[in-house]
Amino acid sequence: MLKRMFVPNFTVMSVADIDLARLKKNGIRGILLDFDNTLVKWNDTRLQKKVVRWVAAAKRLGFLVCIVSNAITERLQSVADRLQIPFVPQACKPSTLGIRRALEKLALDSSETLMVGDQLFTDVLAGKRSGLQTALIRPKKFHEQWWMKGVRYLENFIQDRAFACKV
Ligand SMILES: [Mg+2]
Repeated sequence: MLKRMFVPNFTVMSVADIDLARLKKNGIRGILLDFDNTLVKWNDTRLQKKVVRWVAAAKRLGFLVCIVSNAITERLQSVADRLQIPFVPQACKPSTLGIRRALEKLALDSSETLMVGDQLFTDVLAGKRSGLQTALIRPKKFHEQWWMKGVRYLENFIQDRAFACKV
C-alpha cells in the first residue's frame, strides 16, 4: 500500500530538471504542476528563468500544462498569466477533485498525465489516487513555514519504509 500510494515515478531537484523528451516517449501528454515549492518558492510569485524556459519548451513540444494548487486564485493568477497556462485553484489535494477538474479542462486521460509536486501527502497521493504518473520535487533545501519540518520528517519516514517494501 505504501509503495502504491507514496512512491513517485521519479524524483528531481527542480521542475526544470524533468526530461520532456522522456515524458513524451512514455506517452505523457499532460503535465499538472503544483505551485509552492514546485513552480515558485513557498509563498512567492517570482519565477526562475529556468522554470519559465522549461514551461515554454513543454508547450512547444505539445504538452498540455496546467497548475493544480490548493492555493487561492489571487496567488496563482499572475504566474499563470505570465506562463500562459490555465490553473485550477483550491484543488483540495490529496482529494482528487482538482486533478479531475484539470483533466476535464484539458481533455486529458489520467493515464497520459503527470502530476508534479513537492509533497507526498498532497501532490503524490492525489496524483496516485487519480491514476496519474507522479514526479516529486526534492530541492537541496526547502524554504517554508516552520511546521512543514514535521511533515518533511513524516515524508522521509514513509519513503524509507515504502522503499524498503518488497515489490
Ligand atoms: Mg507545494
